[in-house]
Order: sequence, then structure tokens, then C-alpha cells
Amino acid sequence: MKKIIFSFLLLTVSCALLGGQWGLVSDYYEPVKEGKKSAVGEKYLMRQILRGKPVVVKLMLKEEDEKKRNSVQKLIEDSYKEWFSYTAKLILNQKRQTEFSDVLPILDRGIKVQFSAQERDIDFSVMSRKEVLAACDGLGAGCYFFGQKNNDFIPHIYIPKDSFPLNLLFGSSEFTEEAALHEIGHSLGLSDQYAFARDNNTHAVYHSSKPAESIMESNSSLTCDDADGIVNLIDITLGTSRGGDTGWRSFCKDSSDYYSHGKVLAASPYHIEYDAEIGKWILTSMQKGSLAVQSSFEMDLQTNIDPFAAIQEEVFKKDASGRPVWARASTGENVYYSYIYDKKTRLVVRGEKVALAEVWTPAWKNKKWRHFPGQQYEAYFGGDGKYHSMLAVFYSKQGGVLDYGEGDSLVLPEKVVHMLFDKTRALEYEEWAGFEMENLSFDSTESFAKLEVQVQAEQQEHYINALRADLLKWFEKKVK
Ligand SMILES: [Zn+2]
Repeated sequence: MKKIIFSFLLLTVSCALLGGQWGLVSDYYEPVKEGKKSAVGEKYLMRQILRGKPVVVKLMLKEEDEKKRNSVQKLIEDSYKEWFSYTAKLILNQKRQTEFSDVLPILDRGIKVQFSAQERDIDFSVMSRKEVLAACDGLGAGCYFFGQKNNDFIPHIYIPKDSFPLNLLFGSSEFTEEAALHEIGHSLGLSDQYAFARDNNTHAVYHSSKPAESIMESNSSLTCDDADGIVNLIDITLGTSRGGDTGWRSFCKDSSDYYSHGKVLAASPYHIEYDAEIGKWILTSMQKGSLAVQSSFEMDLQTNIDPFAAIQEEVFKKDASGRPVWARASTGENVYYSYIYDKKTRLVVRGEKVALAEVWTPAWKNKKWRHFPGQQYEAYFGGDGKYHSMLAVFYSKQGGVLDYGEGDSLVLPEKVVHMLFDKTRALEYEEWAGFEMENLSFDSTESFAKLEVQVQAEQQEHYINALRADLLKWFEKKVK
């Protein structure tokens, strides 16, 4: 149990503080090397494919698998082709050729794949399931990395070779194919769609409004959502705004999304994230289909907001789903909301500074993860010249965690409280660090000094008891 929560917390921290966010991968607009200027999507393969350049693959196989080289090469070629041919087929089936007359020739041209170790664009390793799991840092049955492994700025895909136990486990004889399609989706620029990953690696702005069946989720083949992804990815990379003022309708019949330049038109106009590098909360707003206005707010370290109290607010603006996006608190602050799938962020801005930021990630409702429902709240606020953070995570079957931090940095707090709860919500373990009293000389013989020490110790005890009671009450309220 501890292990599960521990690895989840790592995810949480990187998601909450480093930001990142159908979706397009969160770093699609980032340069290949930090500080270097580069074109949109240069880290991914869609850009060169649209220029008509083939994808050069270096295929790495174990010696004993060399005899399978031709069949593995065919699998990779077919998987790249499938992404375009499936999308083209869907356009024809839905008789929408006129709408996509500019895209169809691109899709029909397809993706050309060449195999060579020289001047390659991407590395592929096909190995046993165990080896893949190790290469993927235990994260999955396949994975995509961008140059992290050896810092060569070459993307690397790891997929398992076909094996009988694996087929049995996943109830399919085509698991390798699924893994290849999924990881290739990443190499083109698409993000994960399964519950606990989509909030973390999906771009803040470019994604569908609701999670859908997808090869990037747990589906075994491409879906209408994946076709939405390909057309939007092409539009984002080429800078195309399709569908005029109303946008173009999703290929999925049960979706009410209309897209323009990769963005759902009726979605919330705001996006909120924390930039740890500059220590500011960034509020991005969309105007006429593109990212336009950006405000950045420092945290108000002297605020006297009560993070444990609910603030009444008057809503001025809602999104198409009726969720609030802009409100005014009864205490005068501006309140902004942003939504990525089911993750909600709320920013309370007083004057030019953030008084309170909250991130709410509800239960993981997902076919594959149904047995692992959980919810998570994060709150960030200032006070007494310090940053404060609170995190509550609870899984009905595993138990939960409450973390509190306080200090000169939001990322590395000096004072830390860590509490673990079992599945009945009973406190199992707690640890307090950094609350020790310093510079107190107990050996003083003067009675006045002794008295002062005693008063300080009592104040400290009172403070810790009050904080503990507030935290426990907050946890109970947030994870119920
Ligand atoms: Zn993935």
C-alpha cells in the first residue's frame, strides 16, 4: 500500500508544481533544447511527416530476435500508416471530404518509414516484457522517452515482443500491436488518455473536453477520438484554423465538441498553472482560438485568508458545461477556474497577488482503474511571510495521505507534516519535521529567561495542536 501511494505522490508533485499539461502532449510547444528557438512541435515527428520527410527508425533487437527483424519492421511501418489511413477512412465514411479536402491528400500520402541506424529520427527497442518494464522505470508495458535516457535528444520507444503469457494477460493476441500504436501516437505528439496520466502529460489548452475511448487510453485499436487527435495535431502544427467561427464537429457521434485550431470552442477560457521556475501562478486566457492574454501572479505571503474556510462567491461567467470560470468572492477577490478533463484548478486573486490556489482531482473513473478510485486535493497559500501547501489523497481501498509544508519555497518546505491513514480513515502514522524549537538556552539560571522559554514552548505546543486539529478536519472534509 505504501508503495502505491509513494509512487503516486511523486506523480502528484511533478504534476502540481511543474505544470505540464485529447490531448496534445504538454511540451509540444517547447524547444528541443532549452533556450534554443525552434518551430512548433519540433520535438515530435508530425512536423517532418507533414513536410513529406520519411521517419528514419533505428530498430534495436536482442540477438535471439534478429530472425524476427522483418516482421517487427513491418509492424512498425503498419502502425505508423494506420494512424493516417484510419483517419482518412473515417472522413470518407462520414462523407466529410469537402470539410477536410486540405487534409485528405496529406493522410493519403501516408507516413513513410525507413530503417537505418544513421541519421535516425527515433529509436525502437523491442524486448521481453520484463526488460521493457525495467527500461520504462516500472511505469508500463511500453513507453516513450524523449532523449532522457542518454541525453541524445532522440526519442526512444520501448515495446514488448509478442509472447503467449502477455497475450493471455491482456486477452489479445495483438498486444505488441496495441503497444506500438499507442507509443507511436506519443511520437507524433499525442498525450495519454488514461485516468492518472492524462492530467499530467496533456497540454493545457489542446485537448477534447471529456476523456474518450482511445488507443491513447486503453482501447485496443484506433477510435474517433484518435482521429480527432490527428486532425487537430495537423492543424496545430501547420497553424490551420478550420471550421470558421463555429469550428468543426468531432468525429465522435456522442461528443458535442467543436474544434478550431486544436481547441474546443466552448471550453473554459482560462488555464491556470504554477511555474516553479519563476515562482508565479500563470493565468492564460484564450481569445479567438489562440493563447492571447497572460497574467502572472506571485503568491501573497502576507495574506490572512483562512484556507480552511469556504468562501462565498458570485459567478459572473460559466463555460458551456455550466461550470464557473470567473467569480467574485464575497470578500472581494477575483476567482478563476480552469478544467483539464476532470481536474479543476481554482485561483483566488487579491489585488495582483494569489491568496489561495486549489487543485482538485476527483476519483479515477475508468474501465481499467475502476478498482482504484481515489481523490486528491491540493491547496497553496501564503501567511506569515512563508509559503504553505496542503495535500490530501484518499483511495477508498488503500487509505490516504495528508501532507503539509511551510517555508521560504513552495517546492522545498522547511517544516513538514506527513500523516498516513488506513482505509477506515484512522490515523496510522504521523511525522513532524522542522518544528523543533531553536536557540533556547535551558541552562540559564535567571528565572526571567526560564519563564520566557516556558512561554515560548507553550506557544509552540498550542500552535502545533491547533495546526494538527485544522489539518485533520480539513482532510476529513476534503476526502469525504
Ligand atoms: Zn502512453
